Amino acid sequence: MWSTTFQRFAPGRMPVIGSIAVAVSDWSRPRPGESQMFDQRLMERLTLAHPGWPVVIHGLAGVAAVAVALEAGIAVTAVGGAYLAGVFAWTLVEYLMHRFSFHHAPSTERQVAVGYLVHGVHHAFPDDSRRWVMPLVVTPWAPAGLADHNSAQNTARATVFITYSW
Ligand SMILES: [Zn+2]
Repeated sequence: MWSTTFQRFAPGRMPVIGSIAVAVSDWSRPRPGESQMFDQRLMERLTLAHPGWPVVIHGLAGVAAVAVALEAGIAVTAVGGAYLAGVFAWTLVEYLMHRFSFHHAPSTERQVAVGYLVHGVHHAFPDDSRRWVMPLVVTPWAPAGLADHNSAQNTARATVFITYSW
């Protein structure tokens, strides 16, 4: 079980790739304060993001994509429908990721480290706003997907990004 992980593994440094290790804390015991995951300053910096960034990146990309869709002659009702589909799709994706991936019970130390990196840290340090959203090294692929062509699918994607921002 995910919540009893630290009855099987001792919290502390666990290797992710090569000599890079993550300082893992017990994610079933939330505590105040900020987490420190890496010794390497750059690694630590790359895994932090202000919670306003998704609003800026996905918000602007989403609004731009909706504008492009309207400009291309897609009906307002279709764009609105795509927006609602986006709200539903993203909510479902969030739920499914949480249910089937984020709380997957690890069976090796590396899995504990990766699970901590992706989601466990958020449970161990719930107040650490620097780790509430995906870091910028992960996010830029999303708006990049909007650049190809004008289609209803793009509009749906755009609305998913707008929803994600909120
Ligand atoms: Zn969770």
